[in-house]
Amino acid sequence: MNSQDVALTPECEECGTVWLPSDTERWRAELLDDEPVDHLAFWCAECWERGFA
Ligand SMILES: [Zn+2]
Repeated sequence: MNSQDVALTPECEECGTVWLPSDTERWRAELLDDEPVDHLAFWCAECWERGFA
């Protein structure tokens, strides 16, 4: 997946839910710089709270 695809249809790293524009405020994004290529990862609010809070 290239950066343009990520920008258009980001998906939750955990459950694969597509990030809808209406859900923007509830999601989290982190830039994973330990990957071969920088990877912007997204989590929905539920997975973020379950796995990272
Ligand atoms: Zn999720």
